[in-house]
Amino acid sequence: MTWNPTTGCDKISAGCKYCYAEIMSKRLQAMGVDKYKDNFEVRTHESALNIPYTWKHSKIVFVNSMSDLFHKDIPLEFIKKVFAVMNDNPQHVFQVLTKRADRLFELHKQLKWTHNIWMGVSVENDKVRHRIEYLQKTKARVKFLSLEPLIGPLHKLDLTEIDWVIVGGESGHKPRPMKSEWVLDIQEQCEKSDVAFFFKQWGGKNKKAAGRILNGRTYDEMPEIELQHSV
Ligand code: SF4
Repeated sequence: MTWNPTTGCDKISAGCKYCYAEIMSKRLQAMGVDKYKDNFEVRTHESALNIPYTWKHSKIVFVNSMSDLFHKDIPLEFIKKVFAVMNDNPQHVFQVLTKRADRLFELHKQLKWTHNIWMGVSVENDKVRHRIEYLQKTKARVKFLSLEPLIGPLHKLDLTEIDWVIVGGESGHKPRPMKSEWVLDIQEQCEKSDVAFFFKQWGGKNKKAAGRILNGRTYDEMPEIELQHSV
């Protein structure tokens, strides 16, 4: 389940090279979908704020698959509205992922962090590992790392206060390779630190064929879900 109260973004680091949201926005604009009439320009959508109230059953929700909630052009007032909706719906888990970890850190004290908000940062290579420190310093109750698309090794990660690590390779026409030793190294680091590890995919030109087997098995660990536990 995805929920997009904001749309649009711009590229900030190497992981953005083949941004899925940018490609999809172009497609949706061509199809005449109103929300994407400005293509990939950053926009807020007040009308989307009521959507989580309409879901009958508990959901795991990926917030802003088409944007980055902590983009500088999204006003704090609107981010607060998005958080108010998440605070108000403790029956759902909301996963928020950003590459703007510095702005997340700047604003985190002004936001209410209920248990159902899982906050993550994307780290695709060593150049952007500083995002992890920003996340660690926030008041988020559940913290995760999305190491996807993994395009370089990430040795000796500081996994203090990190609850979940997701790893995935790049897919598409010209995917950058992900070495198996990088993935195995991260899996071992998670095991040693007792951090849930989820291996999403090897990626590549044919991601279905490449699959998601590592060490002869799948890794589908997740943090324990605490629904209806909002404070
Ligand atoms: S931050 Fe995310 S949404 Fe924004 S351009 Fe990069 S990959 Fe796309």
